[in-house]
Amino acid sequence: MPRDYYEVLGVPRGATDAELKKAYRQLAMQYHPDRNPGAKDGEERFKEVNEAYTVLSDPEKRAHFDRFGTVGPVAGGGGTDTGFGTLFEDIFENFFSGGARSSRRSRATRGEDLQYELKIALEEAAAGVETKIQIPRLEQCDACGGTGVEPGGRLETCDFCRGRGEVRRTHGFLTVAQPCPRCQGAGQLNRHPCARCRGEGRQRSERLLSVKIPAGIEDGMQLRLSGEGSGGANGGPPGDLYVLVRIREHEIFVRDGADLYCDLPVAFPQLALGVEVEIPVLNGTAKLRIPPGSQPNQILRLKGKGMPHLRQRGHGDACYRLILEVPQKLNPKQREALLAFEAASKAERGPLALAFLERMKKLLG
Ligand SMILES: [Zn+2]
Ligand SMILES: [Zn+2]
Repeated sequence: MPRDYYEVLGVPRGATDAELKKAYRQLAMQYHPDRNPGAKDGEERFKEVNEAYTVLSDPEKRAHFDRFGTVGPVAGGGGTDTGFGTLFEDIFENFFSGGARSSRRSRATRGEDLQYELKIALEEAAAGVETKIQIPRLEQCDACGGTGVEPGGRLETCDFCRGRGEVRRTHGFLTVAQPCPRCQGAGQLNRHPCARCRGEGRQRSERLLSVKIPAGIEDGMQLRLSGEGSGGANGGPPGDLYVLVRIREHEIFVRDGADLYCDLPVAFPQLALGVEVEIPVLNGTAKLRIPPGSQPNQILRLKGKGMPHLRQRGHGDACYRLILEVPQKLNPKQREALLAFEAASKAERGPLALAFLERMKKLLG
């Protein structure tokens, strides 16, 4: 899931801000949906390029990405309109004509979506876990209640556009409407910005949240905590928080859906004679009966000892693959016993060996 943002932009890791911007510009021009209407993969690429630039152009996020290869606890809103929209407009002011936009842009914007990566153990994924996470995010400024206006002050109607948010210019027969340059299309001016949030209506904050991880969750799944992202600016709604669950590698088990797999080393006599062995299960040990005549790589299952199913009752299985380990050195007693075994086996080859001998005979005529 964490992409290499440098690769996305096609720049080296040490790229300067100017190089980043240049690469971003070229790619964004290439994939901009206005230029490729209806091209779904172009749109995906466009989002990807935007995301990469959003992260790498922010020194804090870039440093985090360089160190950890992830966007970290505060991602620049994967897919929110606010972040990308404004970023895009900043850079491309002059490249694209505004298109059909509503004439008056609201000052209120939705808060960014945030992503938090939560690492848990396989045992926790099996049992489910409730945990606390610390989220740095922007919240509504409590000095101004999110309006961005100094207490006692208020928004004034823009005198340039008289509150319409747009200005119209007439060229001959043609009337062109443009967002008002003074109020950026909001129709209102904030002449007394709140001192604490500098008029943005939001302030930095850390929030301790409780997250409940359901039993059976899989690596890479995301939980959405609605409204727990950053607060909106100027009275806009908050974004969402996505908790990305990563499950740490387990010492013994590899997971496949609800089944757990374990490679179990065994010796030839154990396979041939059969044996009961003590084996690990997710929360302790259990007994596994290896029947006589078991074959290498055969998989034996303990029903219901795997992971719980996420959305249904029951559990998967714990599966043990029999890995035959042949001794690399023999002591004299072992050698003697094996020679005796081999001498006793000559007349009784197994079905695989017999079938192979048959095929060889045919081949040689
Ligand atoms: Zn404020
Ligand atoms: Zn105006």
